[in-house]
Amino acid sequence: MTDLKSLTLSQLKEEMEKMGEKPFRAKQLYEWMHVKLARGYEEMTNIPKSLIEKCKENYDYTSVKEAMVQTSAIDGTKKFLFELSDGNYVESVWMQYHHGNSVCISSQVGCRMGCRFCASTLDGLERSLLPGEMLDQIYAIERSTGERVSNVVVMGTGEPLDNYDNLLQFIRMLSDENGLHISQRNITVSTCGLVDRMKQLADEKLQITLALSLHGSTQEKRQELMPIAKRYHIQEVVDACRYYFEQTGRRITFEYSLVGGVNDTEEDAENLCKLVGDLNCHINLIPVNPIKERDYIESERKDILNFQNKLEKKHINVTIRREMGRDIDGACGQLRRRMSAKS
Ligand code: SAH
Repeated sequence: MTDLKSLTLSQLKEEMEKMGEKPFRAKQLYEWMHVKLARGYEEMTNIPKSLIEKCKENYDYTSVKEAMVQTSAIDGTKKFLFELSDGNYVESVWMQYHHGNSVCISSQVGCRMGCRFCASTLDGLERSLLPGEMLDQIYAIERSTGERVSNVVVMGTGEPLDNYDNLLQFIRMLSDENGLHISQRNITVSTCGLVDRMKQLADEKLQITLALSLHGSTQEKRQELMPIAKRYHIQEVVDACRYYFEQTGRRITFEYSLVGGVNDTEEDAENLCKLVGDLNCHINLIPVNPIKERDYIESERKDILNFQNKLEKKHINVTIRREMGRDIDGACGQLRRRMSAKS
């Protein structure tokens, strides 16, 4: 059945018409779901019982259930494990910054991209998430924390551009003035570099930030860490980033996870400068979060600073990612794996 929470307001209006209902009912339902963040129909006090019955018969109503929350004693970061209606689990993270609250959501259950250092991909892809399931991670976190979310990053489990249509619908609904109305400028989508989809996204001319997981500064090195690099050459990926900037005017973010002895040398930094130095971009250096299934280690602090220094000297915008919730943080995807192993 179609998920009611995954429908845009105009789609919902069409559905109401098909059922012989007045269009204003669509607006009311939409508001319950996407503004008042109702957990279910029982909260919808101004909707007639007969319409609720019809909705129950004809649609699913996505609602993620909080299965576990871990709160960091260091910085208050919260990691949520949510149960979906089919019994699958996804992870989301809530972080407080000076400029507002940020949520990191998952776009798929598992992932099929196979990045070597990532825990989310170890068991492959289970399925993609619906727009309503992506939205509901944010809604459940607002309900749980009692706080407004101002920034959303699609950087949890999954490859968002491998779930393209649902992702786009999610972004449109999240930024819709009839819903949470989060500015597209405050939404970031991170990809391992699906070039065709990146170009397609550029042509949508949204105002979201595109983050590209680079992790290697040459084709050879990138390919060692990311199997997807065998499909799309590093130069093609960087060109697609350039195209994204040209089409949208939005500065690209490059994510570069530093892995000790693998991609953190001075030569790596120099190659990185050559690769992206002429692009309007920002580089986010992420000390790799080691997972037990692989023997990758974090770079030494001095190597990280050295790497940063090299880039700065070439006037490249670079930051080292602040490590939030390190005390609760298994690497992305580990909470879900632990839960799945139990059941
Ligand atoms: N599939 C998308 C989004 C999910 S991963 C992508 O590849 O961008 C979000 C970011 O976390 C990516 O940059 C990913 O490479 C990085 N990442 C995954 N596991 C990591 C780990 N163990 N340590 C550091 N970064 C990791």
